[in-house]
Amino acid sequence: MTEHAHRPSTPADAWQAIKDGNERFVTGSPAHPRQDIDRRESVAEQQAPFAALFGCADSRLSAEIIFDVGLGDLFVVRNAGQVLAETILGSLEYAVEVLGVPLILILGHDECGAVRATINATEGTLSAEGEFIHDLVARLTPTVTNSQAAGRILIDEITEDHVKDTVDELVSRSGVISKAIAAGKLAVVGANYRLSLGEIHPIIVVGDVA
Ligand SMILES: [Zn+2]
Repeated sequence: MTEHAHRPSTPADAWQAIKDGNERFVTGSPAHPRQDIDRRESVAEQQAPFAALFGCADSRLSAEIIFDVGLGDLFVVRNAGQVLAETILGSLEYAVEVLGVPLILILGHDECGAVRATINATEGTLSAEGEFIHDLVARLTPTVTNSQAAGRILIDEITEDHVKDTVDELVSRSGVISKAIAAGKLAVVGANYRLSLGEIHPIIVVGDVA
């Protein structure tokens, strides 16, 4: 398919495309690529995204907008606080093994509500009642308490540790993903998104994106 001809196919090219798109968004010069009827029709039969993204569900992290990409470009998985679970691992393995994406981006952000809720929980001040909110918070609690024990008490420091822990857990639990990295076919980048600036800041890279 000619439509897929310019799909970034290496970890380095995919990471460059992510950075370029984010730069266009940050500077207010988005190209809004591949969002027209032609693109819709050309990818209807088959998708070939160039990256997978696992990020927070926060409404301000709209993936295609902040990376200035189009239909069929990103395989996106999100939940509050980007908390790994078996279904998330399965989705990301699918992106790598079946769709062949060369890049997984794990994306946290500043002032994350899920991280804030977990900090509140450790202080006994979490007000939310939802049973499954408490499940999600419990999943984040080890990272929060470890960060706090290490003297990293600011929410953005804890979020950074959470992104690192998430990348570590992803790579250590998924054989498909760790093998793809070892083969040079995949890289995983953990990054933080700044809500006011719209910028992503890499925190950790596993694999080669140079
Ligand atoms: Zn968040």
